[in-house]
Amino acid sequence: MCLNGLETVLHLLRDCHASNEALFLAGMPRALVHSHAKSTVAWLEETTTLLFVNSLVLILIVLWNLWNQRNAWGTSHAVGYIKVNAGVAYDSDCNTTAIEVITRDECGSVLGG
Ligand SMILES: [Zn+2]
Repeated sequence: MCLNGLETVLHLLRDCHASNEALFLAGMPRALVHSHAKSTVAWLEETTTLLFVNSLVLILIVLWNLWNQRNAWGTSHAVGYIKVNAGVAYDSDCNTTAIEVITRDECGSVLGG
């Protein structure tokens, strides 16, 4: 979490400065790193259609590690407490809102969601 933008999945995987540098170093063309795709799915579809399989595998490994680092960040907390993470998304095209809540114990194990 860099605090330089809304922590969306697209920010985490593509738009965050650290993420787009990692993707560029892994061989992703700058045009894809700075794509104008407006959703994670659209960007991943664009990526999968424009990269060769060997390049795509490396990019997917980088994305997986970015996701794991994000999920590992801040998971430890005091014994006896439960950590609650909540996320909200709004789709203006469909005028719908989604809320996700997940609870973890002090080891980071998911208790429910
Ligand atoms: Zn960021």
